[in-house]
Amino acid sequence: MANHIITHRDALRHTAARSAVSMGLTVVLTLSLCLIQFGPDPDAFVRAGFVTKSSIIISMIISGLLTAGLSYRSALVMLELALARAELLRISGTDQLTGLLNRRGFDQAAESALAKAQEANVPTTVLMCDIDRFKAINDQFGHEFGDKVLIAIAEVLRSFAERRQMLVARHGGEEFAILMTGVSKERAAEYAEELRQACADKEISNEQISACVTISIGLAGCHGETELAKVMRIADQALYAAKRRGRNRVVRADVLADSIAA
Ligand code: GH3
Ligand code: MG
Ligand code: MG
Repeated sequence: MANHIITHRDALRHTAARSAVSMGLTVVLTLSLCLIQFGPDPDAFVRAGFVTKSSIIISMIISGLLTAGLSYRSALVMLELALARAELLRISGTDQLTGLLNRRGFDQAAESALAKAQEANVPTTVLMCDIDRFKAINDQFGHEFGDKVLIAIAEVLRSFAERRQMLVARHGGEEFAILMTGVSKERAAEYAEELRQACADKEISNEQISACVTISIGLAGCHGETELAKVMRIADQALYAAKRRGRNRVVRADVLADSIAA
């Protein structure tokens, strides 16, 4: 199999094996076709013209069959490679712990969603969500329970986002990003508030521990903006404002800018 080829020596060995099979097949096919064409008696008389014509037909059949076999095999190998590549791409864009998109997967998907939104002339909103005082959860209940909290919060975000065709990702350690398009700022702020509440209501427990966590959300909206990093940066600033104002809240970047300007 092609996936067992690791070194150049393996490639040569593989080629030699395939060539031997191909030569063996050529011998078997040639003898069989000659037997059909000239009959079983090796001393029987045949006309020279008939031999020439038959040889041409036999070599055409054999090379046709071998070429078809080889082409089919290389098509199978290419299919295998394409599937492996798609799987690698999926894994490289997925967070192993939560199964959400990771930062890389999110950035790729969000870039194209942003471009589509700009083309369709609809607004885009980014939510940056961060679990409040998560370090204390780890310190108090252990890293394993911390992981359980991350998985539970990711599940809340996933079911919320999937129902509304939003992109959702684990963007960093205990930070999640959501991107929605075609939703007004007011509606997006309502969604963010619902999401914050859904996380606060979620009880996370194992045999010994039961805990609730809250998240803070920074919201940035744009219309016609092409640079994802810029929108993310603004959402991040709003998130930090949410943290400074006491956590477990949503801060809108536009409202934040108004309050700074005032
Ligand atoms: P704040 O409310 O300001 O966000 O405080 P915080 O404690 O949540 O923030 P801080 O940045 O101080 O701590 C984040 C913690 O998240 C630190 C890090 O150990 C933890 N963390 C990051 N990734 C993982 C992970 O995959 N599993 C677990 N259990 N913890 C993680
Ligand atoms: Mg945090
Ligand atoms: Mg953080």
